[in-house]
Amino acid sequence: GRESCLVGLIGSGVGPSLSPALHQREADRHGLRYLYRTIDIDPLGLGPDGVGELVRAAARLGFDGLNITHPCKQTVIGHLDGLSEDAALLGAVNTVVFGEDGRAIGHNTDGSGFARSFARGLPDAPPGEIVLLGAGGAGAAVAHALLTVGADRLTLADTDPARATGLAGTLAARFGAARVRTVPDGGLPAAVDAADGLVHATPTGMAAHPGLPLPAGLLRPGLWVAEVVYRPLVTPLLTAARAAGCRTLDGGGMAVFQAADAFRLFTGREPDAERMLTDLTDL
Ligand code: NAD
Repeated sequence: GRESCLVGLIGSGVGPSLSPALHQREADRHGLRYLYRTIDIDPLGLGPDGVGELVRAAARLGFDGLNITHPCKQTVIGHLDGLSEDAALLGAVNTVVFGEDGRAIGHNTDGSGFARSFARGLPDAPPGEIVLLGAGGAGAAVAHALLTVGADRLTLADTDPARATGLAGTLAARFGAARVRTVPDGGLPAAVDAADGLVHATPTGMAAHPGLPLPAGLLRPGLWVAEVVYRPLVTPLLTAARAAGCRTLDGGGMAVFQAADAFRLFTGREPDAERMLTDLTDL
């Protein structure tokens, strides 16, 4: 591993991100000199495509890597020299590693982060029939992860039907048409009723998007509920699901494990994700 590490996070509104503290606290425990800086495109007057200029600048300034977030996870791809298999499959990058040869390689640790959080937090949950709310970036990563770990079938629901149809097509091509469908019009209650689990991957429940993503009456004991939103850690959906007797998983685990996987890529050192989970609840 390296003795020092210079990394950053590029995206819109990244100032309040918990990533710098998560990474730096873990690095401190490794005795590693580690600087993690947020690089916000908004005050720089850059749009999603501005990420290219920033990636080139970071490479020239000797950065070891970058995390990439909304709205640059797709636009960054055109500015990289190569992609990991996960990043290529998802068409999205959340981690860039600069090699000693100067090459910038894109990775995606959102799917692996969710998979580890799910295995840890809901170890006995049958990954059988799953309803996935939200077919955006997080939804795509979670869908690939769930089908990879053996979910029987995903039913996709998105308020933008084209999003659900588009993701369903990509998943069907990779995992088979029998393992994915979109929820028929008005069919959400029946789909949830027939499901073992529900995964929520829309921004609903964040401060800017208050409320529940589905009627609370659809929640019942026996249905497990996994949340992707992690700010706040306990969303209205999780509160409603716990009240209804569901087993639940918050979004903090995915946030920590994706950070841990990025830390390993940046440093070559093995992070202690359990310690990082404790940090998240302190932050
Ligand atoms: P996105 O904009 O790419 O996708 C969100 C999708 O949800 C959109 O397609 C939108 O049409 C759909 N949607 C909105 N409201 C809906 C509703 N009520 N029912 C059905 N569909 C609805 O956003 P994203 O990047 O996928 O992020 C989604 C959430 O996941 C955000 O809150 C983000 O912070 C969180 N996230 C968490 C982690 C983590 O590590 N825990 C990682 C990535 C994203």
